[in-house]
Amino acid sequence: MKRSNTRDISSFFTKKPTTENASQVQTSEENPIPEINITRAPQPSAQGSSPSVTIPPPVVDIVKLSHDPGKRKKLIDFHPNERDLVRRMYIQRGPCQPVDHVFPKTLFGTKERRFNVKWFDSSWGPWLEYSVFKDAVFCFICYLFKAENTAGGDAFVSEGFKAWNRIETIGDHVGKHTSSHNNAVIAMELFTKQKGSIVTALSKQTDEIMSAYRKRLEASITAIRWLLLQGLPFRGHDESENSMNRGNFISLLALLSEHDPEYSKVVLKMAPGNCQLISPIVQKDIINACAKETTKAILEELNGGFFAILADESADISDKEQMALCLRYVNVRSEFNDHQKLDSTDQDC
Ligand SMILES: [Zn+2]
Repeated sequence: MKRSNTRDISSFFTKKPTTENASQVQTSEENPIPEINITRAPQPSAQGSSPSVTIPPPVVDIVKLSHDPGKRKKLIDFHPNERDLVRRMYIQRGPCQPVDHVFPKTLFGTKERRFNVKWFDSSWGPWLEYSVFKDAVFCFICYLFKAENTAGGDAFVSEGFKAWNRIETIGDHVGKHTSSHNNAVIAMELFTKQKGSIVTALSKQTDEIMSAYRKRLEASITAIRWLLLQGLPFRGHDESENSMNRGNFISLLALLSEHDPEYSKVVLKMAPGNCQLISPIVQKDIINACAKETTKAILEELNGGFFAILADESADISDKEQMALCLRYVNVRSEFNDHQKLDSTDQDC
C-alpha cells in the first residue's frame, strides 16, 4: 500500500536515559508519543505510606440483641452511632411481656409471692417488662431513653426489681411529672415523631437517590466492561430514542435492564434527565478508569519481574497509522501472559 509518510518503527520511541548513555538520548519531537511508564513494577511500599482509611463504626447485629431485659447490654455500651438503631429495633419489638410464662414464687416472710401477669394490662403496661432470666421487672422506656446520671429508677434499668411484697414501688417508679421516667417518656415521644420530620424525610430521599445512582453506575460499568473485552465500538450513528439502532452501549444497557428488574428501575428512561450516565464523557471516564485498573493489575502481576514489549505499526485503509503493543511476562504463578494494547498514533481508537 502506498504510504503518505514513511517513518520507521524507531521513530515512535524515545530511548530511555541510563547512567551510561544519558548524554546520547535521542528524542523524536516530530512524532511524539505518550511515554510508556511500564518499566518495572513498583515494589511494595513501606508501611504507613498507604492512604489513611476511615474505619466505619461497627454495625450492630440486630438478630443478636436480646429481648429479655435481664440479658440486655446497656445502651451506653453500644457505639453512639448505633444507639438510635438499637432504640428503633426495641421500639418495634415492644416491651418484653411473656404472658405464658410460669412465674416462679419467692418466699417473703411466711408468704410466697410472684409476678402477676395482670400488671401488663394495667397502666404500667406501656413500660413494664419482665425478665424470665432474672425473675424481675424492668422499665422499657427508661432502658431506652433515661438520661445518664439522672437519679431515680435505676433498679428498673440495671438489676431489675423483684420485691413482689412491695408492689407499690412499681407504681412509684413513674413518679411526678418531672421524674426521670416521665422525662424518658417525653424523649421517646420526640424520638418516635422524628421519623416523620423533614430532616428524616430528606435523609431518606438522599439515601434512595444515592442507591439508585450506584445501581445506574453499576449498569453502565457492566456494559462498558463487556464492550471493552469484546473490542466493540460503543457509539451508534443515531442514538435518539426513536432510532432503530442506538449503538452497542445503549442497546446493551437496555438489554441489561430488561433482564434485571433493579436496573430497569434506574437506567435510561427511568433515570433523571441530567444523570443518565450514558454520555460520551461518562463513557470515556469509565473507560479510562478501566484502563488504569487494568494497568494496575498488570503491574501487580509483574511484581517487579522481567518483561518484554513488542511493537508494530501499520496504516489502516484510510492511511492512518495504527500501532500494536504486546507486553509479555511470566507472573508469579509461572503463567505466560501476552497482553496486547492497540494505540493509534494519529487518531483516536
Ligand atoms: Zn421508667
